[in-house]
Amino acid sequence: MMEFEQQFNTEQACIEYLFKLRWPQGFQCIKCGHNKAWTTKENLYRCVKCEFKNSVTAGTIFQDSKKPLKVWFRAIWHLTSQKYGANALGLQRVLGFGSYRTAWTWLHKLRCAMVRPGRNRLSGMVDIDEAYIGGKRPGKRGRGAEGKTLIFVAVESKDNRIGRIRLKKIPDASAESLEPSIKEAVEPKTIINTDDWRGYGRVSQIGYTHKIVRKNPEIGVNLLPRVNRVVSLLKRWLLGTYQGRVQPPFLDYYLDEFTFRFNRRTSGSRGKLFYRLVQQAVAIEPLFVKCIHSQIVDS
Ligand SMILES: [Zn+2]
Repeated sequence: MMEFEQQFNTEQACIEYLFKLRWPQGFQCIKCGHNKAWTTKENLYRCVKCEFKNSVTAGTIFQDSKKPLKVWFRAIWHLTSQKYGANALGLQRVLGFGSYRTAWTWLHKLRCAMVRPGRNRLSGMVDIDEAYIGGKRPGKRGRGAEGKTLIFVAVESKDNRIGRIRLKKIPDASAESLEPSIKEAVEPKTIINTDDWRGYGRVSQIGYTHKIVRKNPEIGVNLLPRVNRVVSLLKRWLLGTYQGRVQPPFLDYYLDEFTFRFNRRTSGSRGKLFYRLVQQAVAIEPLFVKCIHSQIVDS
């Protein structure tokens, strides 16, 4: 924490940090591509050739924010330095915000940055199953169960241990819902393990090596072991960090945050998680921009 405070104690230090992440190969003008600029009093980079004033925060989650970058950096630190993350109330308290709404919006934006643009798909061997989140009783497969949200879970197996994961909310367990999710999450030709549910009936036809490792397809119970372990951790995390108060329309954002943390669980250093999140926060990707503007009203 002290190290962090020392490194980012001025606005200038934060801007320089963003500069390096945004232009790792050195400055490049957004308008004309020229590689030299003057810095201005307003912390902008004025292109020597076309005079366009480049902002290091344009198009990122920091754009248009009235709060200093210092405060943003503290928020990111708060979010990444804790093993289980943070909720809006905690963030509001730490940053001394008057409004819960602001804290919530910031968290939303930061969660958008946790979806790595163009991230690599899972490969090698992958276990796939679906599970219900929320509600009390196990539901019937393929139909909506009361108060429950169905999620798609893909877990990579690396030397018999859990590798990376992908999670996604799905409307039902039909082949029409499962197949696009598989294609989005898993590299072609990968070995995919599932149970005998008919939604997986065409997995080998869509470009994968399909193995049925369990004959008895039932939802909510009897998950494949590695999937089961990930889902238990996810449920515990949702309960611990968010007291289980996650509304279905927002679930995808929480799934992204969990995935972001889970896939970096062995990186050891919290600093690395911080670096990665700031790096993704300055990346300008259409998917990301769409996420930021999906300002759903928190109820
Ligand atoms: Zn220029």
